[in-house]
Amino acid sequence: MSTLRFHAIKETYAYKPLVVEEKERRSKLFGNNVFNEQTMRQYLTKDAFEKVTDAVYFGKKIDRGIADQVASSMKDWALSKGVTHYTHWFQPLTGATAEKHDAFFETSSDGMAIEMFGGGQLVQQEPDASSFPSGGIRNTFEARGYTAWDPTSPAFIYGTTLCIPTIFVAYTGEALDYKTPLLRALHAVDAAATDVCKYFDKNVKKVTSSLGWEQEYFLVDKMLATSRPDINLTGRTLLGHSSAKGQQLDDHYFGSIPSRALNFMRDLENECMLLGIPAKTRHNEVAPNQFELAPIYEEANLAVDHNSLLMDIMGRVASRHNFKVLLHEKPFAGINGSGKHNNWSLTTDTGINLLAPGKTPMSNLQFLTFFINTIKAVHQHEALLRAAVASASNDHRLGANEAPPAIISVFIGDQLTKVLEELEGVTKGKLSPKEKTELKLNVVGKIPDVLLDNTDRNRTSPFAFTGNKFEFRAVGSSANCGDPMTVLNTIVAKQLKDFKEEVDVLIDKKGLKKDEAVFNVLREYIKSTKAILFEGNGYGKEWEDEAKKRGLSNNKTTPEALKAKVSKQTIALFEEMGVMSKVETEARYEIEIESYIKHVQIESRVLGDIARNHIVPTAVKYQNVLIENVKGLKEIFDKKFTAVSKEQVKLIEEISSHIEGINANVTKMIDERREANAIENIEEKAMAYCNKVKALFEKIRYHCDKLELLVDDELWPLTKYRELLFTR
Ligand code: ADP
Ligand code: MG
Repeated sequence: MSTLRFHAIKETYAYKPLVVEEKERRSKLFGNNVFNEQTMRQYLTKDAFEKVTDAVYFGKKIDRGIADQVASSMKDWALSKGVTHYTHWFQPLTGATAEKHDAFFETSSDGMAIEMFGGGQLVQQEPDASSFPSGGIRNTFEARGYTAWDPTSPAFIYGTTLCIPTIFVAYTGEALDYKTPLLRALHAVDAAATDVCKYFDKNVKKVTSSLGWEQEYFLVDKMLATSRPDINLTGRTLLGHSSAKGQQLDDHYFGSIPSRALNFMRDLENECMLLGIPAKTRHNEVAPNQFELAPIYEEANLAVDHNSLLMDIMGRVASRHNFKVLLHEKPFAGINGSGKHNNWSLTTDTGINLLAPGKTPMSNLQFLTFFINTIKAVHQHEALLRAAVASASNDHRLGANEAPPAIISVFIGDQLTKVLEELEGVTKGKLSPKEKTELKLNVVGKIPDVLLDNTDRNRTSPFAFTGNKFEFRAVGSSANCGDPMTVLNTIVAKQLKDFKEEVDVLIDKKGLKKDEAVFNVLREYIKSTKAILFEGNGYGKEWEDEAKKRGLSNNKTTPEALKAKVSKQTIALFEEMGVMSKVETEARYEIEIESYIKHVQIESRVLGDIARNHIVPTAVKYQNVLIENVKGLKEIFDKKFTAVSKEQVKLIEEISSHIEGINANVTKMIDERREANAIENIEEKAMAYCNKVKALFEKIRYHCDKLELLVDDELWPLTKYRELLFTR
């Protein structure tokens, strides 16, 4: 083992774990650092409290006087907890979270020092946004964007800073973040779903979209991770031969959690409790050193904020435990990658989960309505849904026989498949009393409230119904859930709106009864959406062929997939639902393509550097040892020399051929990069990076990894897979 690696590993073992003890019950800690309802009741006047609640639940505007009151109370609360600064906290399109701290501290005109925080500062701030991606919406010379308070997500304290969740928009009104379109989408789905609910229950006034994410991640020792420039700069390993033992034995999944990782989790969950993130589940995942954290599901906007916040604090907490968290979708080749399942459902303000079967035929008809409309929405916008999870890093995971393929399909299970088959046979137009009774008793009435398929759900499906929710599994571990949630809620909103129109026509123009009309429309939907339903093995080649016949898209790379984000259909969809204007949609597309190019460009540079500065010199060094050896053998054995040095000479040759392989391909890659960089059109540029630059990664890696097997372990400078994955 090289001295460098030896010391890194020695440090790992010498590290005394930071033991985290839990003295308080979690329920006591929960939300302690959040300006939540309970705290607001304590700190706000009754009037202010009601105004804020109205804003949260019904989107009512908060006037300046109330904002002043809220700000002042927030400040008092925060000061009582030792807070010194406040920040508008937002999620720009870089994928990270952003903040700019300002002190409460002010000096007044007469030189007095005081703590101040007014409604103006709560409601709006200008963070000098010139360095955030805007996709050409803002010219940099008038780099003006502002953040505005989102009262639906409560303020929280992190460290000594009061963080106020905000949206981030250009002065011209366009969204520059993930949250703004999400809030608009949630509003759209609320309106459309509430309208449809009224067929079944007139009392429904609001429908809320829920999200329960499951965050997968890797924990690698900080020292070991830092010894690898690729992990440090790109979040993944760009080379490295697989370890003799990987995940073949399945001995990690749900195994006992290693104690150092467990201490990290305790610490992290403690932070989650204080911040009101309802962390519930933790376990080992399939790959060595891979884990998962899942909270109890929440209203989608809050859940998205909580996931962004979690990804941020994970890094900080990990550092305390000498770990580096890898959120990348594929940190190690040949080892399972990480995803972030998005569990999604819709709930009424009367407490009904619209995606859970009910106890009566009528509530089941309501369930089927939402269930079938969701399937139809996914069918109609499958390419857009795929685009919503596209990123340079997720490209490595989708379709890699461990995660859903790049083809979007819906899994619903045997029982519901049968129900849909029965409904497909419903008579066109008016139904006879006998048929109605039959439907009520034997089809709609027979959906059990516990669906058996829940237990043997199909893990290979990208979009699966799991009993009382849909689970969108193609989302990547490093993604901001805002984008997939915006798309999903928007397409469902649009579908429900269309459904309502169709049903109303049948009622008003054809004189059908409400339930007859609903049955009639659902029947047609079932017939027209069959192509999206798939119960088989999503990993198989057969599915790719079958999906092609069905007309489903199969966009394997980000540049291909992203096109659906600016299709005519998508632009019209977002405009109609009031989620994004054409300018916003196009700007986002541009930002994502550029981000893709930059990611591949950075990886390419890092790979070239490591190959030439680490691998080739090491190989040459070892080759010299072999050459010396052969020379020595010649001295001793003279004529018999060829026979005894045969293997060494072969090795020398082999090393030379790999060195040549590396050099030739790195040179080629640099040339391809130069050519790609000269391309003006960003779509073509992204394609060049994808098909020409990135295509060489595998070739370079192949030769590097072969050398890793040949070269003396003592000389090899890079921490190996076995060390990264099995040092605890
Ligand atoms: P797994 O998929 O790992 O087997 P579960 O299906 O039990 O786990 O649940 C995973 C996630 O689904 C959790 O975060 C949970 O809060 C969330 N979840 C459960 N019910 C709902 C629902 N009705 N709407 C949205 N998310 C839900
Ligand atoms: Mg799951």
